[in-house]
Amino acid sequence: MLFANIDYLNNSFEVVRGYVGTEGALITYVGASTPENPERFGELYNGRGKLLIPGMYNTHAHMPMTLLRGYAEGLTLQDWLFNKIFPFEDKIDDEKAYPATLLAIAEMLRFGVVGVTDMYFFSEARIRAIAESGIKANLCDGIMVFDEETTYEQTHNLKANERLVREHHDTLDGRLKIDFNIHSEYISNPQVVRAVGEHAAALGVQTHVHISETTREHEDCKQRRGGLTPTQYFESLDFFRMPCTAAHCVWTEPADWEIFRERNVSVSCNPASNMKLASGFAPVAEMLDAGVNVTIGTDGAASNNSHNILKDLYLLALLSKGASGDATAVKPQQALAVATINGARSQGRSDCGTIEVGKRADLVALDICVPWMQPIHNLANNLVYSAQGTDVVLTIVDGAVLYRDGNYLTIDLERAISDTKRFSAEIAASLSS
Ligand SMILES: [Zn+2]
Repeated sequence: MLFANIDYLNNSFEVVRGYVGTEGALITYVGASTPENPERFGELYNGRGKLLIPGMYNTHAHMPMTLLRGYAEGLTLQDWLFNKIFPFEDKIDDEKAYPATLLAIAEMLRFGVVGVTDMYFFSEARIRAIAESGIKANLCDGIMVFDEETTYEQTHNLKANERLVREHHDTLDGRLKIDFNIHSEYISNPQVVRAVGEHAAALGVQTHVHISETTREHEDCKQRRGGLTPTQYFESLDFFRMPCTAAHCVWTEPADWEIFRERNVSVSCNPASNMKLASGFAPVAEMLDAGVNVTIGTDGAASNNSHNILKDLYLLALLSKGASGDATAVKPQQALAVATINGARSQGRSDCGTIEVGKRADLVALDICVPWMQPIHNLANNLVYSAQGTDVVLTIVDGAVLYRDGNYLTIDLERAISDTKRFSAEIAASLSS
């Protein structure tokens, strides 16, 4: 495809006008004027009234939780998790997780997300949905350990992780990567944390974990682990041998950020989820200043309740100012890096995340001929502060059009919705009877 005369976000996160051409899975032309032999790009896309940006990354999600969207609201975190979420999740299986994952992916593509980092169970169902839909994903199979005695060998995860890596890691032309999971400091134990870190290093895969989501988690860990924060506790067990995505990090401290920077740990900030569950505000500006690779995630649909990444990005940019009292905190260019290149980097995708020749053709076009995007003094500012997720009109992954002008090219949306609704209602009914 050749995007002609279009405003696009360059690799300095400034908007310039020009031409962007893709051939196969790659961007092969970026320039101010029409390229030679323009027919080699195939379709000519009229860029008038559109903005082209690199695809965005949702770096912390639990996709099958679309089944729980709107199911339990207005409860304390403990009550919500133990009395509503866990009993509902007990009833999910692969058959139910599959359409729910497709629904989550449809929603993400609709909002310009090209890659997701997903932590959950039912990996076969999720992989099927990822393979069919065309999205990029780093997927980990959840591990939950509630005592100090259980070893990694005693969980089903050791074998499951081995098999997932053998059969699925770096497959689908690199679209799918397997990560290893530790749920959190409080749903694991030291020997499992150490063993999973070793296993990840042995098989060359990344890791994904929740860190310091609530003040209680952070302070309880310090009490239990001789004053170590969750981050320091993981570091003491040599868990961060491979690049890691750490979700939330709301209560992390400067010493933790040092570890993140040195050990290649990316932070996934989840502003909507953190506010909804009254967990607090992550120190985004401070972590960026400390050189941490900050990214953005929506978390699951039960605690957000959407996968509209631009909405979370708006919150991230504003909260950083409101919570710090510094109106200059987190500039639009920084926020756009958080949503794109930083997300790609967190997934170990050095060939993604910017509009440059040689990079993967992961591209998103937005309609800017809408009242809330006009007038334009600085389009990057409008993108962060004014754009709506629904302004996205085109989502391309590895050169393939997956969503365009209301149509999904790889997902039967009606079916994903009706199956998810049916399974969700079945589970809710079985719990209320
Ligand atoms: Zn989470």
